[in-house]
Amino acid sequence: METRRLYYDDSYQRDFSAQVLSCEPEAHGATPAWNVVLDCTALYPTSGGQPHDLGKLGEANVLDVRDEGEDVVHVVDRELPLGSVKGCVDWGRRFDHMQQHTGQHLLSAMFQERYGRPTVSFHLGNDLCTVDLRGPEPTEEILEGAERAANQVISEDRPINVRYGTAEQFAEMGVRKEVQRAGILRAIEIEGADLQPCGGTHVRSTAQIGIVLVRDCTKMRQDWRVEFVCGLRAARVSRNDFQLLHRAAEELGCAPEDVPGAVQRAVAERDLHFKNMRTLLQRVAEADAAAALRSAKVEGNGIRVIAQIFGEGNQPEYLNGFATGIAKSDKAVALLGMSAEGNLLFAQNPAAGKDMNALLKQVFAQFAGKGGGTRDFARGKLNDAAQANRAVAFARQFLASGS
Ligand SMILES: [Zn+2]
Repeated sequence: METRRLYYDDSYQRDFSAQVLSCEPEAHGATPAWNVVLDCTALYPTSGGQPHDLGKLGEANVLDVRDEGEDVVHVVDRELPLGSVKGCVDWGRRFDHMQQHTGQHLLSAMFQERYGRPTVSFHLGNDLCTVDLRGPEPTEEILEGAERAANQVISEDRPINVRYGTAEQFAEMGVRKEVQRAGILRAIEIEGADLQPCGGTHVRSTAQIGIVLVRDCTKMRQDWRVEFVCGLRAARVSRNDFQLLHRAAEELGCAPEDVPGAVQRAVAERDLHFKNMRTLLQRVAEADAAAALRSAKVEGNGIRVIAQIFGEGNQPEYLNGFATGIAKSDKAVALLGMSAEGNLLFAQNPAAGKDMNALLKQVFAQFAGKGGGTRDFARGKLNDAAQANRAVAFARQFLASGS
């Protein structure tokens, strides 16, 4: 027997009496649950883009409501005896869905009629709702224009009616989206604004939508996904937006309206400081390299080897600057390591006549790691940073052995 859907004729019915026709244990699922079929219900099952209701059947909590052919199946958390039962709808949740869903009808109608952007699908999410629009990218003017037009219709408090008729009758009445289904169909009419076949639940006049707020628009495959929220949810979302803006303004020490400018200045300052820091780091590294060269011992063949390990807090930029500073000097070789990260950097002045890449390969034959480079400049990283000291000592010894 088909479940009679009370919400079709009165979406404001919160309490109802019904007969439990069957109550079967749910086959799947981690927690025990029962599938209940009633002769009639005011609880809306997930369908047509609108999420299911919650509520109670007797003492049982409704966990899910599913549309299964002609039946509405209520998933509940305890077994119910066959016979009479009182049911109720979680009204806060349902009314929110009604606000979002009716707002979606209205917004879709405005996008289509004013801007030729038909809605191909929609989704009522837990936080935000979306409509997918076909056609070219909606400009900021279109997004704002559709929002303004929808809010104008809301302020006029127009009646919203449920209409029944055939597909042909609806087509004659100028339905927004034609359907090819036989029999008597149900459509929702927003007077003077929209007619759309739909089996969902809606508010009874546009004022009850409260407000439509359009938010982001992003590309979704071939369509454009427009986020929106309506009613009390819109109030929550904009309060949250304000709090975020207020917090950002507090952090930046400015008025909320000055946040974009203040962020722009802070980012520009940060970039400039970073640039200056790199320049200074380079200069310090070069000065340190010069000092290291002065105290380095000149070996028999005129080569000076600077082997050094840098501890924590040294930037790779510093290591580069240091190596480059050494390699500028005639016949100088830099064998550098970072003890915290395990980085190695070998560089030479070409006149030193060694092969840094080959030397690094020799090191990695002894200590696990990887890297490479050219004859004059090679770098790599040890798997075990704790080996950096030994690896540099090994390289120095290998170089001295006259390879
Ligand atoms: Zn609808």
